[in-house]
Amino acid sequence: MVDTTLAFDLGGTNLRCTVVHRNGDIEAEQQALTEGERGVDAVIEHMAEMIEAVAANAGLDTAVPVGVAAPGPLDPRAGIVRFSPNLAGWTNIPLRERLEALTGRTIHLGNDANAAALGEYYFGAASDVRHLVYVALGTGLGGGVICDGRLIDGINGLGGELGHTCVNMDGPRCTCGSSGCVEAYCSGWAIARDGQALARAGRSDAIREAASDPDGVDARAVADAAEAGDTGALLILERAGHALGAGLASFANIFNPEMIVIGGGLARIGDPLLQPATRAFHAYALPAIAQNVTISASALGTKTGTYGAAAIVFHALHQT
Ligand SMILES: [Zn+2]
Repeated sequence: MVDTTLAFDLGGTNLRCTVVHRNGDIEAEQQALTEGERGVDAVIEHMAEMIEAVAANAGLDTAVPVGVAAPGPLDPRAGIVRFSPNLAGWTNIPLRERLEALTGRTIHLGNDANAAALGEYYFGAASDVRHLVYVALGTGLGGGVICDGRLIDGINGLGGELGHTCVNMDGPRCTCGSSGCVEAYCSGWAIARDGQALARAGRSDAIREAASDPDGVDARAVADAAEAGDTGALLILERAGHALGAGLASFANIFNPEMIVIGGGLARIGDPLLQPATRAFHAYALPAIAQNVTISASALGTKTGTYGAAAIVFHALHQT
């Protein structure tokens, strides 16, 4: 029974390596800038160095495995990062094989949103439920689904791409090439797009003031303007929240979860986004399903990546 693991959170901006115990205690955390512009090889070598430094600090031998949570579509069984939107050059990278060769440790690789769902399941808001839908509201809209204790990752690890669920066949274009995805309404990039359009049309001084120019408007500027009472910003968040709620209703109708956990930086916008989402959820979900769902905020906050990476390992070992 493994009760200690190394957890590696590979992000577009930061690298974090930590020792995580099965009871949730963490120690020996190290953090560094990713510096993706130095290239794939440099990042992987830096990851291996951090793993060895953290393991040495904690006195862990090479039998202790490593969980790696990485962004973007990846194949957890083959251990290959297919593509990473925030890391230039990361296309079809055999990350598991490379790290295993450099560290001599067993590496378990998982998509960051699926890892976050496992993190909430093992350590967070969903630690006493068996059926969970996790939604990460960030630059995009990530997701992870756990049914009766099993992560749904599909035939090649792409299960749970909840953000690309269509909520309007005639809706706006999405980064995935489709249209009307819930992510095309409720994500950092979609809210920024709507804020920029409002600022360019001169219909929101608050949004334009929050950013230096219309092209620089991001989701934070829209959220700040909404907090100051700006009507246009509030309407953007209302529409985004409405689409999110419609998406959550579809997820609930399909999976009949006990709990939906909402994490990611955009969740901190709070009521202007989540109240319309909750209203739409109850409007669109089957009542018999909706009445058994608890919608909760993430319990892991900034430690989501760390606990998610650790949970990849505990889940993998639990399943075999
Ligand atoms: Zn999409």
